[in-house]
Order: sequence, then structure tokens, then C-alpha cells
Amino acid sequence: MAKQEIDDRFKKFGTVSFTAISKVNEFISFLEKGKVMATKCKKCGMSFFPPRADCCDCLSSDMDWVEVTGDGTLLTFSKLQYGPVGFEGDLPYIIALAQYKDVKVFGRMSKELPDSDIKIGMKVKALPVKHSNGQISYEFKKA
Ligand SMILES: [Zn+2]
Repeated sequence: MAKQEIDDRFKKFGTVSFTAISKVNEFISFLEKGKVMATKCKKCGMSFFPPRADCCDCLSSDMDWVEVTGDGTLLTFSKLQYGPVGFEGDLPYIIALAQYKDVKVFGRMSKELPDSDIKIGMKVKALPVKHSNGQISYEFKKA
């Protein structure tokens, strides 16, 4: 009888993960190595975050991993007072969108940063964080 191997690295992602099986499991392995990664289509050059295994623009599956490095620019943010099931314990928290070169990254602002310090246009770094329950994700910190 063949035992089916399930690649479930994605279940370690986030507070509660809803996507245990993903073609982009490498994302988690990169986070564990301290890197936040996006994918970039080798054919048309389109970048994706969260990383995608297939390009929605030209339908190619020939993707490269590219690290989200340096300082991003905060484009917008929003404070959540209500969250999806599983995230209630984290509320309130701030979700944000930042521009890094040719890719937009969506994530949470670090709770270490006071609300009054968060301004559109500020420079932010996307950095992996390990939660006390063993889950891993990334968040924005002031650059
Ligand atoms: Zn493409």
C-alpha cells in the first residue's frame, strides 16, 4: 500500500493557517531561514506576493524566488477591531500594504510600533517572526 506524503509546511504559517497544503511551501522554509520571499515569473517578469506557483498573467509555471529585501514604502494600513475566526485573540492589529521595488506586500504591522508612529509613506522592513505557539509569519517593522 502506497503511503501518501503530504507536504504540509504551510500549516506552520500565521496565527491559524487555512492553507496547509500549498504549491508554495518553500515560502515557509524561507521564513524559517529569516527570509520573506516573493515569486517572479521568468517569462514575463511579473512579481507575486503572496508567492504564486503559476503566473496569472502569462500562465507560465516557470517561477523564480526573489527575496523581499530593503526598505518598502507603506502604501496604506488599517486597524482591525474585528477579525476572522481564529484571530480574535490578536485584536486589535494593523494590516498594511507596502511597496518593495516591483512587488506589493500585504501583512501586519509589528505591535512593537505605536499606532501614532505609523504613517503612509514611511519606510518599513518585512521580517519573519516566530510566535510563542510555534507558528511562523512575517510582519512590518519600522526601517
Ligand atoms: Zn508570467
